[in-house]
Amino acid sequence: MFSDPHSHGLWAITAPPAPDTTPLQGEAAADVAVIGAGYTGLSTALHLAERGLRVVVLEAAEIGFGGAGRNVGLVNAGMWVMPEALCAGLGDHFGNRLIDLLGDGPRQVFELIDRHAIPCEAERQGTLHLAVGAKGLAEITERARQWQKRGAPVEVLSAAATAARLGTSAYAGALLDRRAGTIQPLAYARGLARAAIAAGAVMHTRSPALGLARAGAGWRIATPQGVLRAKSVVMGTDAYGSGPVFPEIRTQQVHLPYFNFATEPLPADLLARITPGREGCWDTREVLTSFRRDAAGRLVFGSVGALRRGGAAVHRAWAQRAMARLWPELKGVRIEAAWYGQIGMTADNLPRFHRLAENVITVCGYNGRGIAPGTVFGKLLAGVVAGEVADADLPLPVTTPQPAGLRRLREGWYEAGAQLAHLAGARL
Ligand SMILES: Cc1cc2nc3c(=O)[nH]c(=O)nc-3n(C[C@H](O)[C@H](O)[C@H](O)COP(=O)(O)OP(=O)(O)OC[C@H]3O[C@@H](n4cnc5c(N)ncnc54)[C@H](O)[C@@H]3O)c2cc1C
Repeated sequence: MFSDPHSHGLWAITAPPAPDTTPLQGEAAADVAVIGAGYTGLSTALHLAERGLRVVVLEAAEIGFGGAGRNVGLVNAGMWVMPEALCAGLGDHFGNRLIDLLGDGPRQVFELIDRHAIPCEAERQGTLHLAVGAKGLAEITERARQWQKRGAPVEVLSAAATAARLGTSAYAGALLDRRAGTIQPLAYARGLARAAIAAGAVMHTRSPALGLARAGAGWRIATPQGVLRAKSVVMGTDAYGSGPVFPEIRTQQVHLPYFNFATEPLPADLLARITPGREGCWDTREVLTSFRRDAAGRLVFGSVGALRRGGAAVHRAWAQRAMARLWPELKGVRIEAAWYGQIGMTADNLPRFHRLAENVITVCGYNGRGIAPGTVFGKLLAGVVAGEVADADLPLPVTTPQPAGLRRLREGWYEAGAQLAHLAGARL
Protein backbone atom coordinates (compact mmCIF):
# COMPACT_ATOMS: atom_id res chain seq x y z
CA MET A 1 0.00 0.00 0.00
CA PHE A 2 3.00 2.28 0.54
CA SER A 3 4.41 1.19 -2.84
CA ASP A 4 3.59 4.52 -4.53
CA PRO A 5 6.80 6.58 -4.05
CA HIS A 6 4.73 9.78 -4.34
CA SER A 7 2.40 8.94 -1.45
CA HIS A 8 4.47 8.70 1.75
CA GLY A 9 7.97 9.51 0.47
CA LEU A 10 10.66 10.02 3.09
CA TRP A 11 8.44 8.93 5.96
CA ALA A 12 7.94 5.45 4.49
CA ILE A 13 11.72 5.17 4.01
CA THR A 14 12.76 6.19 7.54
CA ALA A 15 9.89 5.10 9.83
CA PRO A 16 10.34 2.02 12.02
CA PRO A 17 8.25 -0.90 10.71
CA ALA A 18 4.52 -1.01 11.41
CA PRO A 19 3.25 -3.60 13.87
CA ASP A 20 2.18 -6.86 12.21
CA THR A 21 -1.49 -6.73 11.31
CA THR A 22 -3.82 -8.78 9.15
CA PRO A 23 -7.19 -8.20 7.45
CA LEU A 24 -10.35 -8.98 9.39
CA GLN A 25 -11.53 -12.46 8.46
CA GLY A 26 -14.81 -13.98 9.62
CA GLU A 27 -16.89 -12.66 12.50
CA ALA A 28 -15.61 -10.42 15.30
CA ALA A 29 -17.20 -8.42 18.10
CA ALA A 30 -16.16 -5.35 20.06
CA ASP A 31 -17.50 -2.69 22.37
CA VAL A 32 -16.21 -0.05 19.97
CA ALA A 33 -15.31 -0.18 16.28
CA VAL A 34 -12.83 2.48 15.21
CA ILE A 35 -12.72 3.07 11.47
CA GLY A 36 -9.47 4.55 10.17
CA ALA A 37 -5.94 4.21 11.56
CA GLY A 38 -4.74 7.82 11.49
CA TYR A 39 -4.14 9.96 14.57
CA THR A 40 -7.86 10.35 15.40
CA GLY A 41 -8.66 6.64 15.20
CA LEU A 42 -5.43 5.47 16.83
CA SER A 43 -5.64 7.92 19.74
CA THR A 44 -9.29 6.95 20.28
CA ALA A 45 -8.37 3.25 20.21
CA LEU A 46 -5.44 3.71 22.61
CA HIS A 47 -7.46 5.68 25.16
CA LEU A 48 -10.41 3.27 24.97
CA ALA A 49 -8.20 0.20 25.29
CA GLU A 50 -6.53 1.78 28.33
CA ARG A 51 -9.99 1.92 29.92
CA GLY A 52 -10.38 -1.83 29.38
CA LEU A 53 -12.94 -1.59 26.57
CA ARG A 54 -12.79 -4.09 23.68
CA VAL A 55 -11.70 -2.04 20.66
CA VAL A 56 -11.25 -3.19 17.07
CA VAL A 57 -9.70 -0.82 14.51
CA LEU A 58 -10.55 -1.32 10.83
CA GLU A 59 -8.15 0.39 8.43
CA ALA A 60 -8.82 0.40 4.67
CA ALA A 61 -5.15 0.37 3.70
CA GLU A 62 -2.25 0.54 6.19
CA ILE A 63 -1.59 2.33 9.49
CA GLY A 64 -0.94 6.00 8.68
CA PHE A 65 -2.07 5.63 5.06
CA GLY A 66 -3.97 8.97 5.09
CA GLY A 67 -2.76 12.38 6.13
CA ALA A 68 -1.00 10.83 9.15
CA GLY A 69 1.69 9.25 6.97
CA ARG A 70 2.12 12.12 4.50
CA ASN A 71 2.23 15.39 6.43
CA VAL A 72 5.05 17.82 7.21
CA GLY A 73 5.30 16.76 10.84
CA LEU A 74 4.71 20.20 12.37
CA VAL A 75 3.14 19.68 15.79
CA ASN A 76 1.31 23.00 16.00
CA ALA A 77 -0.56 24.64 18.86
CA GLY A 78 -3.95 25.99 17.73
CA MET A 79 -5.47 26.34 14.27
CA TRP A 80 -4.77 28.66 11.31
CA VAL A 81 -7.67 30.77 12.48
CA MET A 82 -6.40 33.29 15.05
CA PRO A 83 -7.76 32.98 18.61
CA GLU A 84 -10.07 36.02 18.44
CA ALA A 85 -11.55 35.06 15.06
CA LEU A 86 -11.98 31.51 16.34
CA CYS A 87 -13.96 32.78 19.34
CA ALA A 88 -16.00 35.04 17.07
CA GLY A 89 -16.83 32.08 14.82
CA LEU A 90 -17.67 29.52 17.49
CA GLY A 91 -18.78 31.84 20.27
CA ASP A 92 -16.78 32.30 23.49
CA HIS A 93 -18.17 29.14 25.12
CA PHE A 94 -16.78 26.72 22.54
CA GLY A 95 -14.05 29.05 21.26
CA ASN A 96 -12.21 29.42 24.56
CA ARG A 97 -12.38 25.69 25.20
CA LEU A 98 -11.09 24.85 21.72
CA ILE A 99 -8.21 27.31 22.03
CA ASP A 100 -7.25 25.94 25.44
CA LEU A 101 -7.43 22.33 24.23
CA LEU A 102 -5.45 22.91 21.02
CA GLY A 103 -2.98 25.26 22.70
CA ASP A 104 -2.16 22.36 25.02
CA GLY A 105 -2.17 19.86 22.11
CA PRO A 106 1.60 19.66 21.48
CA ARG A 107 2.27 19.06 25.19
CA GLN A 108 -0.14 16.11 25.10
CA VAL A 109 1.47 14.73 21.93
CA PHE A 110 5.01 14.90 23.37
CA GLU A 111 3.79 13.49 26.67
CA LEU A 112 2.22 10.52 24.84
CA ILE A 113 5.44 10.00 22.87
CA ASP A 114 7.44 9.95 26.12
CA ARG A 115 4.96 7.73 27.98
CA HIS A 116 4.93 5.09 25.24
CA ALA A 117 8.57 5.58 24.20
CA ILE A 118 7.52 6.16 20.58
CA PRO A 119 10.59 6.46 18.33
CA CYS A 120 9.47 9.28 16.00
CA GLU A 121 12.28 11.88 15.85
CA ALA A 122 10.36 14.09 18.28
CA GLU A 123 11.82 17.62 18.58
CA ARG A 124 10.13 19.99 20.99
CA GLN A 125 12.18 22.95 19.78
CA GLY A 126 9.33 25.22 18.77
CA THR A 127 8.11 26.40 15.40
CA LEU A 128 8.81 29.58 13.44
CA HIS A 129 5.98 31.20 11.50
CA LEU A 130 7.99 33.29 9.05
CA ALA A 131 6.88 36.79 8.07
CA VAL A 132 7.07 37.63 4.38
CA GLY A 133 7.37 41.41 4.06
CA ALA A 134 5.55 44.06 6.09
CA LYS A 135 2.16 42.36 5.63
CA GLY A 136 3.50 39.09 7.01
CA LEU A 137 5.11 40.89 9.94
CA ALA A 138 1.82 42.59 10.78
CA GLU A 139 0.08 39.20 10.68
CA ILE A 140 2.46 37.41 13.02
CA THR A 141 2.59 40.40 15.36
CA GLU A 142 -1.19 40.31 15.69
CA ARG A 143 -1.14 36.52 16.14
CA ALA A 144 1.48 36.90 18.88
CA ARG A 145 -0.57 39.59 20.61
CA GLN A 146 -3.65 37.35 20.71
CA TRP A 147 -1.76 34.34 22.06
CA GLN A 148 0.28 36.37 24.57
CA LYS A 149 -3.00 37.77 25.97
CA ARG A 150 -3.80 34.15 26.83
CA GLY A 151 -0.40 33.58 28.44
CA ALA A 152 1.02 31.43 25.63
CA PRO A 153 4.86 31.29 25.37
CA VAL A 154 5.13 32.92 21.93
CA GLU A 155 7.30 35.84 20.83
CA VAL A 156 8.08 37.80 17.70
CA LEU A 157 11.71 37.59 16.61
CA SER A 158 13.35 40.46 14.71
CA ALA A 159 14.53 40.01 11.13
CA ALA A 160 18.12 39.69 12.39
CA ALA A 161 17.22 37.10 15.05
CA THR A 162 15.22 35.16 12.46
CA ALA A 163 18.13 35.23 10.00
CA ALA A 164 20.44 33.91 12.72
CA ARG A 165 18.15 30.89 13.22
CA LEU A 166 17.59 30.20 9.52
CA GLY A 167 20.81 31.06 7.75
CA THR A 168 18.89 33.31 5.36
CA SER A 169 17.75 36.92 5.60
CA ALA A 170 14.67 36.37 3.43
CA TYR A 171 12.16 37.03 6.21
CA ALA A 172 10.99 40.17 8.01
CA GLY A 173 10.68 38.35 11.34
CA ALA A 174 9.16 35.21 12.84
CA LEU A 175 6.69 34.10 15.45
CA LEU A 176 8.49 31.64 17.71
CA ASP A 177 6.02 29.26 19.38
CA ARG A 178 7.81 27.33 22.12
CA ARG A 179 4.86 24.96 22.67
CA ALA A 180 5.27 23.35 19.26
CA GLY A 181 7.78 21.07 17.53
CA THR A 182 8.25 18.40 14.89
CA ILE A 183 7.92 14.63 14.58
CA GLN A 184 8.37 11.93 11.95
CA PRO A 185 4.63 11.68 11.28
CA LEU A 186 4.36 8.08 10.04
CA ALA A 187 6.60 6.87 12.86
CA TYR A 188 4.28 8.59 15.33
CA ALA A 189 1.22 6.89 13.79
CA ARG A 190 2.92 3.49 13.90
CA GLY A 191 4.00 4.12 17.49
CA LEU A 192 0.45 5.03 18.51
CA ALA A 193 -0.74 1.82 16.84
CA ARG A 194 1.81 -0.24 18.80
CA ALA A 195 0.75 1.45 22.04
CA ALA A 196 -2.93 0.78 21.30
CA ILE A 197 -2.23 -2.88 20.54
CA ALA A 198 -0.16 -3.20 23.72
CA ALA A 199 -3.11 -1.77 25.64
CA GLY A 200 -5.39 -4.45 24.17
CA ALA A 201 -6.81 -2.97 20.95
CA VAL A 202 -7.12 -5.26 17.92
CA MET A 203 -6.00 -3.77 14.62
CA HIS A 204 -7.01 -4.97 11.16
CA THR A 205 -5.42 -3.38 8.09
CA ARG A 206 -6.49 -3.88 4.46
CA SER A 207 -10.00 -3.99 5.94
CA PRO A 208 -12.11 -1.17 4.50
CA ALA A 209 -15.50 -0.67 6.10
CA LEU A 210 -17.79 -1.28 3.13
CA GLY A 211 -21.16 -1.02 4.82
CA LEU A 212 -22.69 -0.21 8.17
CA ALA A 213 -26.09 -1.51 9.28
CA ARG A 214 -28.06 -1.62 12.52
CA ALA A 215 -27.84 -4.95 14.36
CA GLY A 216 -29.90 -5.05 17.55
CA ALA A 217 -28.71 -2.24 19.81
CA GLY A 218 -25.43 -1.89 17.93
CA TRP A 219 -23.85 -1.94 14.48
CA ARG A 220 -22.72 -4.51 11.94
CA ILE A 221 -19.78 -3.44 9.80
CA ALA A 222 -18.95 -5.39 6.65
CA THR A 223 -15.41 -5.64 5.29
CA PRO A 224 -14.31 -7.63 2.19
CA GLN A 225 -13.61 -10.78 4.22
CA GLY A 226 -15.34 -10.25 7.53
CA VAL A 227 -18.00 -8.74 9.72
CA LEU A 228 -17.49 -6.75 12.90
CA ARG A 229 -20.28 -6.15 15.42
CA ALA A 230 -19.91 -3.28 17.86
CA LYS A 231 -22.06 -1.20 20.20
CA SER A 232 -20.44 2.10 19.18
CA VAL A 233 -18.54 3.32 16.16
CA VAL A 234 -15.92 6.06 15.96
CA MET A 235 -15.15 7.29 12.44
CA GLY A 236 -11.54 8.43 12.03
CA THR A 237 -11.51 8.74 8.25
CA ASP A 238 -11.37 12.53 7.77
CA ALA A 239 -10.09 13.68 4.35
CA TYR A 240 -9.10 10.13 3.33
CA GLY A 241 -12.57 8.62 3.82
CA SER A 242 -13.23 6.07 1.10
CA GLY A 243 -16.28 4.00 0.20
CA PRO A 244 -19.92 4.33 1.11
CA VAL A 245 -19.67 4.67 4.90
CA PHE A 246 -20.53 8.27 5.86
CA PRO A 247 -19.04 9.90 2.73
CA GLU A 248 -20.36 13.24 4.06
CA ILE A 249 -17.30 13.39 6.35
CA ARG A 250 -15.21 13.81 3.21
CA THR A 251 -17.62 15.67 0.95
CA GLN A 252 -18.04 18.56 3.40
CA GLN A 253 -14.36 19.32 2.83
CA VAL A 254 -12.45 20.80 -0.08
CA HIS A 255 -9.15 18.99 -0.60
CA LEU A 256 -6.03 21.10 -0.87
CA PRO A 257 -3.01 19.21 -2.28
CA TYR A 258 0.34 19.70 -0.50
CA PHE A 259 3.73 18.29 -1.50
CA ASN A 260 7.14 17.81 0.09
CA PHE A 261 10.63 17.21 -1.27
CA ALA A 262 13.38 15.79 0.96
CA THR A 263 16.99 16.59 0.12
CA GLU A 264 19.92 14.28 0.75
CA PRO A 265 21.37 14.74 4.28
CA LEU A 266 23.09 18.14 4.33
CA PRO A 267 26.77 18.56 5.30
CA ALA A 268 27.58 19.63 8.86
CA ASP A 269 28.62 23.18 7.93
CA LEU A 270 25.21 23.82 6.32
CA LEU A 271 23.34 22.20 9.20
CA ALA A 272 25.15 24.58 11.54
CA ARG A 273 23.47 27.48 9.70
CA ILE A 274 20.08 26.20 8.41
CA THR A 275 17.78 25.84 11.44
CA PRO A 276 20.50 24.62 13.83
CA GLY A 277 17.75 24.85 16.46
CA ARG A 278 15.69 22.33 14.41
CA GLU A 279 12.50 24.42 14.51
CA GLY A 280 9.68 23.57 12.10
CA CYS A 281 9.03 26.52 9.75
CA TRP A 282 6.39 27.85 7.37
CA ASP A 283 5.73 31.29 5.96
CA THR A 284 2.84 33.73 5.75
CA ARG A 285 2.29 33.49 1.98
CA GLU A 286 -1.11 32.32 0.79
CA VAL A 287 0.62 29.63 -1.31
CA LEU A 288 2.85 28.94 1.62
CA THR A 289 6.30 27.37 1.84
CA SER A 290 7.24 25.07 4.73
CA PHE A 291 10.56 23.52 5.71
CA ARG A 292 12.09 21.51 8.50
CA ARG A 293 14.93 19.06 9.05
CA ASP A 294 14.64 15.34 9.70
CA ALA A 295 16.86 13.49 12.18
CA ALA A 296 19.44 12.67 9.49
CA GLY A 297 19.78 16.34 8.46
CA ARG A 298 17.68 16.22 5.29
CA LEU A 299 15.75 19.37 4.50
CA VAL A 300 12.03 18.66 3.95
CA PHE A 301 10.74 21.49 1.76
CA GLY A 302 7.11 21.80 0.71
CA SER A 303 4.23 23.88 -0.57
CA VAL A 304 0.75 23.68 -2.04
CA GLY A 305 0.40 21.44 -5.09
CA ALA A 306 -0.03 17.90 -6.37
CA LEU A 307 2.80 15.86 -7.85
CA ARG A 308 0.74 14.65 -10.83
CA ARG A 309 -0.49 15.88 -14.23
CA GLY A 310 2.59 17.96 -14.95
CA GLY A 311 2.65 19.23 -11.37
CA ALA A 312 5.56 16.93 -10.47
CA ALA A 313 7.98 18.72 -12.82
CA VAL A 314 6.70 22.25 -12.10
CA HIS A 315 6.81 21.87 -8.32
CA ARG A 316 10.20 20.12 -8.32
CA ALA A 317 11.75 22.89 -10.41
CA TRP A 318 10.19 25.52 -8.12
CA ALA A 319 11.43 23.74 -4.97
CA GLN A 320 14.98 23.63 -6.30
CA ARG A 321 14.87 27.32 -7.27
CA ALA A 322 13.29 28.32 -3.96
CA MET A 323 15.81 26.38 -1.86
CA ALA A 324 18.73 27.85 -3.82
CA ARG A 325 17.26 31.36 -3.46
CA LEU A 326 17.09 30.93 0.33
CA TRP A 327 20.44 29.12 0.64
CA PRO A 328 22.65 29.43 -2.49
CA GLU A 329 24.75 26.45 -1.32
CA LEU A 330 21.72 24.22 -1.99
CA LYS A 331 21.82 24.86 -5.74
CA GLY A 332 21.61 21.45 -7.41
CA VAL A 333 21.13 19.60 -4.10
CA ARG A 334 20.00 16.01 -4.65
CA ILE A 335 16.34 15.26 -3.89
CA GLU A 336 15.90 11.87 -2.19
CA ALA A 337 12.12 11.72 -1.91
CA ALA A 338 9.01 13.51 -3.17
CA TRP A 339 5.44 12.98 -2.00
CA TYR A 340 2.10 14.68 -1.58
CA GLY A 341 -1.30 14.34 0.02
CA GLN A 342 -4.69 15.97 0.40
CA ILE A 343 -5.51 18.38 3.22
CA GLY A 344 -9.22 18.53 4.09
CA MET A 345 -10.43 22.14 4.44
CA THR A 346 -13.79 23.07 5.96
CA ALA A 347 -15.80 26.18 5.07
CA ASP A 348 -14.70 28.11 8.19
CA ASN A 349 -11.31 26.37 8.61
CA LEU A 350 -12.42 24.80 11.89
CA PRO A 351 -12.82 21.14 12.82
CA ARG A 352 -16.19 19.45 13.24
CA PHE A 353 -17.78 17.13 15.79
CA HIS A 354 -20.63 15.03 14.36
CA ARG A 355 -23.07 12.49 15.70
CA LEU A 356 -23.63 10.67 12.41
CA ALA A 357 -26.12 8.11 13.77
CA GLU A 358 -26.93 6.62 17.16
CA ASN A 359 -23.59 5.85 18.87
CA VAL A 360 -21.61 6.81 15.76
CA ILE A 361 -19.35 9.85 16.24
CA THR A 362 -16.45 11.59 14.59
CA VAL A 363 -14.19 14.62 14.75
CA CYS A 364 -12.73 15.70 11.41
CA GLY A 365 -11.73 18.70 9.30
CA TYR A 366 -8.42 19.68 10.85
CA ASN A 367 -7.49 22.00 7.97
CA GLY A 368 -3.85 20.92 7.80
CA ARG A 369 -3.44 20.93 11.59
CA GLY A 370 -4.22 17.34 12.52
CA ILE A 371 -1.27 15.96 14.49
CA ALA A 372 -2.03 17.54 17.86
CA PRO A 373 -5.79 18.03 17.23
CA GLY A 374 -6.26 14.43 16.00
CA THR A 375 -4.44 13.18 19.09
CA VAL A 376 -6.36 15.26 21.64
CA PHE A 377 -9.73 14.80 19.93
CA GLY A 378 -9.12 11.05 19.76
CA LYS A 379 -8.66 11.09 23.52
CA LEU A 380 -11.84 13.15 23.93
CA LEU A 381 -13.82 10.82 21.65
CA ALA A 382 -12.74 7.93 23.88
CA GLY A 383 -14.13 9.87 26.83
CA VAL A 384 -17.41 10.44 25.00
CA VAL A 385 -17.79 6.76 24.10
CA ALA A 386 -16.92 5.73 27.65
CA GLY A 387 -19.67 8.03 28.92
CA GLU A 388 -17.22 10.26 30.82
CA VAL A 389 -17.53 13.34 28.60
CA ALA A 390 -20.94 14.82 27.75
CA ASP A 391 -21.55 16.64 24.47
CA ALA A 392 -22.05 19.82 26.51
CA ASP A 393 -18.48 19.55 27.81
CA LEU A 394 -16.89 19.35 24.33
CA PRO A 395 -14.98 22.22 22.74
CA LEU A 396 -17.05 21.97 19.54
CA PRO A 397 -20.80 22.08 18.96
CA VAL A 398 -22.53 19.01 17.54
CA THR A 399 -23.14 19.81 13.86
CA THR A 400 -24.48 18.07 10.76
CA PRO A 401 -22.11 17.79 7.76
CA GLN A 402 -23.00 20.19 4.94
CA PRO A 403 -21.63 19.38 1.47
CA ALA A 404 -18.96 21.81 0.31
CA GLY A 405 -20.21 23.92 -2.60
CA LEU A 406 -18.43 23.52 -5.96
CA ARG A 407 -16.04 21.07 -4.33
CA ARG A 408 -14.50 19.55 -7.46
CA LEU A 409 -14.15 22.91 -9.16
CA ARG A 410 -12.38 24.42 -6.18
CA GLU A 411 -10.10 21.39 -5.85
CA GLY A 412 -9.18 21.71 -9.54
CA TRP A 413 -8.50 25.41 -9.02
CA TYR A 414 -6.21 24.78 -6.03
CA GLU A 415 -4.22 22.24 -8.04
CA ALA A 416 -3.96 24.39 -11.17
CA GLY A 417 -3.46 27.61 -9.19
CA ALA A 418 -0.52 26.10 -7.28
CA GLN A 419 1.11 25.12 -10.58
CA LEU A 420 0.65 28.64 -11.90
CA ALA A 421 2.10 30.12 -8.71
CA HIS A 422 5.13 27.86 -8.93
CA LEU A 423 5.88 28.38 -12.62
CA ALA A 424 9.12 30.20 -13.33
CA GLY A 425 9.07 33.81 -12.27
CA ALA A 426 5.70 33.69 -10.55
CA ARG A 427 7.14 33.70 -7.07
CA LEU A 428 10.29 33.03 -5.07
C1 LIG B 1 0.59 16.86 2.80
C2 LIG B 1 -0.01 17.13 4.17
C3 LIG B 1 0.68 17.95 5.06
C4 LIG B 1 0.17 18.17 6.35
N1 LIG B 1 0.93 18.81 7.26
C5 LIG B 1 0.54 18.84 8.57
C6 LIG B 1 1.41 19.31 9.58
O1 LIG B 1 2.56 19.66 9.33
N2 LIG B 1 0.94 19.37 10.85
C7 LIG B 1 -0.32 18.94 11.18
O2 LIG B 1 -0.69 19.01 12.34
N3 LIG B 1 -1.15 18.42 10.23
C8 LIG B 1 -0.74 18.34 8.96
N4 LIG B 1 -1.54 17.79 8.01
C9 LIG B 1 -2.89 17.32 8.41
C10 LIG B 1 -2.85 15.97 9.11
O3 LIG B 1 -2.02 15.07 8.46
C11 LIG B 1 -4.29 15.41 9.16
O4 LIG B 1 -5.13 16.39 9.70
C12 LIG B 1 -4.35 14.17 10.02
O5 LIG B 1 -3.63 13.12 9.43
C13 LIG B 1 -5.80 13.73 10.24
O6 LIG B 1 -5.77 12.56 11.03
P1 LIG B 1 -6.95 11.54 10.96
O7 LIG B 1 -6.57 10.39 11.78
O8 LIG B 1 -8.22 12.23 11.32
O9 LIG B 1 -7.09 11.14 9.42
P2 LIG B 1 -6.03 10.40 8.47
O10 LIG B 1 -4.67 10.48 9.01
O11 LIG B 1 -6.24 10.93 7.09
O12 LIG B 1 -6.48 8.89 8.52
C14 LIG B 1 -7.69 8.43 7.97
C15 LIG B 1 -7.57 6.93 7.77
O13 LIG B 1 -8.86 6.39 7.51
C16 LIG B 1 -8.70 5.33 6.60
N5 LIG B 1 -10.01 5.06 5.98
C17 LIG B 1 -10.69 5.85 5.12
N6 LIG B 1 -11.86 5.27 4.75
C18 LIG B 1 -11.92 4.07 5.40
C19 LIG B 1 -12.85 3.02 5.42
N7 LIG B 1 -13.98 3.07 4.68
N8 LIG B 1 -12.59 1.93 6.20
C20 LIG B 1 -11.46 1.87 6.95
N9 LIG B 1 -10.53 2.84 6.94
C21 LIG B 1 -10.75 3.93 6.19
C22 LIG B 1 -7.65 5.86 5.63
O14 LIG B 1 -7.05 4.81 4.86
C23 LIG B 1 -6.69 6.55 6.59
O15 LIG B 1 -5.65 5.70 7.01
C24 LIG B 1 -1.09 17.61 6.71
C25 LIG B 1 -1.79 16.81 5.79
C26 LIG B 1 -1.24 16.57 4.54
C27 LIG B 1 -2.00 15.66 3.59
